[in-house]
Amino acid sequence: MNGKEKVNAWLDEHADETVEFLRELLRIPSVNPYFEDEDSLKREEKAQKYLQKYLDDMGFETELTYPDAQELIEYKDMAGYCPDHTFEERPNLYGVLRGTGEGKSLMLSGHMDVVQTGSKWTHDPFSGDLVDGKIYGRGAVDMKGGIAAMTAAVKAIKESGIKLRGDVKVGTVVDEEAGGMGTLALVAHGYRADACIITEPTHLNLAPLCRGILWGKLIIEGRAGHIELERDDWRAGGAVDAIDKAAYILDRFDEFNKDWEFTKGHKYLPIPCQLKFAQFDAGEFPTAFANRAELIFDAQYLPQDKDKNGLGGKVKKEIEDFVAGVAATDPWLRENPPRIEWILDADCGETYDTQEFFKVTKKCLEENVQHAIVEGNCAHTDMGWFCNVGIPTINLGPGDSKLAHQADEYIEVKEYIQCIKLIADIILDWCEEAD
Ligand SMILES: [Zn+2]
Repeated sequence: MNGKEKVNAWLDEHADETVEFLRELLRIPSVNPYFEDEDSLKREEKAQKYLQKYLDDMGFETELTYPDAQELIEYKDMAGYCPDHTFEERPNLYGVLRGTGEGKSLMLSGHMDVVQTGSKWTHDPFSGDLVDGKIYGRGAVDMKGGIAAMTAAVKAIKESGIKLRGDVKVGTVVDEEAGGMGTLALVAHGYRADACIITEPTHLNLAPLCRGILWGKLIIEGRAGHIELERDDWRAGGAVDAIDKAAYILDRFDEFNKDWEFTKGHKYLPIPCQLKFAQFDAGEFPTAFANRAELIFDAQYLPQDKDKNGLGGKVKKEIEDFVAGVAATDPWLRENPPRIEWILDADCGETYDTQEFFKVTKKCLEENVQHAIVEGNCAHTDMGWFCNVGIPTINLGPGDSKLAHQADEYIEVKEYIQCIKLIADIILDWCEEAD
């Protein structure tokens, strides 16, 4: 048997144990504390220690470190930096399994925190229920399924008696769901490899990029006045309807998005970047024109549009200039310019299809998974910082990302096992078997 056959045989024989490993991880609630008040559900440290033990038993050298905003102060204007986030009992876990030397190293990375459970579950979100080939639990897809799969892949190689030339590293972080300071801390800690897989759920597709995400609040001023009466000219103190002005601006965003359809697409993304309004808040009572309108939007950006801090500064400017241009065409808005308050800027990254790691991964994918395609993540993942420091990084993991963050989140056992085999194959190919 060659290495791949040995690994697959081991996995077929130890499927139950491998499934149990994930179920146990799901039974340790590791809800990000920024979404949760209940202390018993915030056990990122316990989950990390559970994984640490698993790595230690395999022969990894491991270390837990606790991110610290003060220690990361030099990154304060950059992606993932959240000055008010604290990390007591919230460690990152780093592990390295040394190869025999001279091979290429691979990092496997994921976030251990999960979002809050929310309502309408029919399974206990922290039971790891296994029913009809599906494992249920908060984080089953996003992304303890991926973490368990990548770790089990190394275990299968190890237990099959295969020695690798390159090092395999496992880096699992906290706080991805609320900002990304865990991954910033990992990179700042100097943790590096020749390539990286983030096992976010991609349905086993190869996602060589993720988009940056901007949230902003567009604030449009009006002037309240009796809604049933004739209005004086606004220059003479008459009422101005902020909803009307908001509609004027909203309409113009159709053109803006049409333009982005042509200029902000990517060959590996199914949809172009767009600016979409998500929330609208205006007016105070039924008999008055709205004094103010506040509109919250989500806009996505491509890695090629990152600014020097690795963030969406250039795209923010583009949006601000557009709003200013629209305002210039209306006398009231010209004198009372709308303004944008920026709420969030989540970074992005890309590995090109000309890079060797992309090619190796694609080859393994084609050999292992029939349905799989190359398709970038339309949303954000933590890959930006890895790309920033020159580590070719892809997202590839088990599960349907549409099931993330919802009730009865689950992963199919079949896909989970298939992912373990795929990742093991990539490791064998990239890190190479030692003689
Ligand atoms: Zn995730």
